[in-house]
Amino acid sequence: MISQSVKRITSTIQSADSQQVNTLINQLMALASQSDSEGAFPEEAFGQMAEAGMLGITLPGQPLDFDLPETKNLLQLLKRIGTGNLAVGRVYEGHINALYLIHLFGNQEQKKRYGADVRQHQRLFSVWNTQADDGIRIHALGGGRYVLEGSKTFCSGAGWIQRPLVTGELVGQDRSGWQMCIIPTERVKPIPSDEQFWQPLGMRASASFKLDFTGVELEEQDLLGQPGDYFKQPYFSGGAIRFAAVQLGAAEALLSETRTYLNDLNRVDDPFQKARIGEMTYLIESGNQWLNAAGDKTDVWLTQDDSADKIVAYANMTRTAIEQICLRTMELAERSVGARGLLRPLPFERIHRDLSMYLRQPAPDAALTGIGHYVFHTSSPTHDLWR
Ligand SMILES: Cc1cc2nc3c(=O)[nH]c(=O)nc-3n(C[C@H](O)[C@H](O)[C@H](O)COP(=O)(O)OP(=O)(O)OC[C@H]3O[C@@H](n4cnc5c(N)ncnc54)[C@H](O)[C@@H]3O)c2cc1C
Repeated sequence: MISQSVKRITSTIQSADSQQVNTLINQLMALASQSDSEGAFPEEAFGQMAEAGMLGITLPGQPLDFDLPETKNLLQLLKRIGTGNLAVGRVYEGHINALYLIHLFGNQEQKKRYGADVRQHQRLFSVWNTQADDGIRIHALGGGRYVLEGSKTFCSGAGWIQRPLVTGELVGQDRSGWQMCIIPTERVKPIPSDEQFWQPLGMRASASFKLDFTGVELEEQDLLGQPGDYFKQPYFSGGAIRFAAVQLGAAEALLSETRTYLNDLNRVDDPFQKARIGEMTYLIESGNQWLNAAGDKTDVWLTQDDSADKIVAYANMTRTAIEQICLRTMELAERSVGARGLLRPLPFERIHRDLSMYLRQPAPDAALTGIGHYVFHTSSPTHDLWR
């Protein structure tokens, strides 16, 4: 749990390149290996994130307020956090995603209450949607009371999250469908977690356990939005640009570490090493261009009524391109540093494990075919597809 004594938001962060962010990223990098074990969570890193004002940076009046056209800068910030520690980036992205869903679908009272949870208590949020056959049902008991039944898999942050946003099938007489709710963890019965579920290739520190919510009782004020809101486009699929940003951060870390490693070995005049660094550099920069374009275009297209499909198609292109960039960057980095470079305590093997795991995001095939579907069905000429 994040220390209650951390400072309130005092953020003066104006860009992902600010000195404050650079210092934070260095701290995250220095701590990353400490939480790289099953069952661990990067508590100290999140204490520093809270202290640096990161948890509330998208709240009203803050530098990356969701009401401002700041998506590009949010993506660049997510990328930097991913550079510091991919597991921290994953959990932070979930926190930002939950705050965005509250921004989109919360009522005034909820926005105020959840905003205070972040500002005053540094509470962590998350979004837990993935489930297996024993997924969640939200039973309406009447009188504005509900009880949950079932489990979620891949719950990043697990018991360290104080305000998980959980989805499930609402079963009630007057309303039914896929419903979001936010669980005030200190107010409900203990939520058992299955740590054995999480024996992953990488991303150990994301603590993405399986949790059983059966018997958790909620009130009307804990339900967010209406059934079906969670899947509303372009917000649902368009959000892929955020995880792509975090992923690119790890690839950028590989480039940075490879430069340092080869410099230290004085292997910088070799033409093959130059060629690999050259390729990694242009790949990372193309990833940056994807993020910047996706951020700017999303902000513009969100103001247009008929652009939801275009936002989703562009997000699908961004995540698909960045997946390829990350895969190729890992290969190039490993060829550059060789077996000796893949030994601990050097960071390459951890970043490789973490990035390989975190690149496995939902529906990659559907994302690619979705781009094709959009292009076949839009009336825009080819040169004008993304204007
Ligand atoms: C580190 C980490 C943290 C995570 N944290 C969270 C979290 O906090 N909250 C959360 O909700 N989720 C979380 N997830 C889960 C994540 O969002 C995805 O749901 C999950 O990674 C996808 O799992 P999968 O690759 O096994 O998916 P699958 O859907 O099984 O995909 C595997 C492959 O099968 C293909 N495929 C998919 N459907 C079909 C089909 N019907 N027929 C044939 N092929 C198909 C896909 O395109 C892909 O190629 C996390 C995942 C990771 C790796």
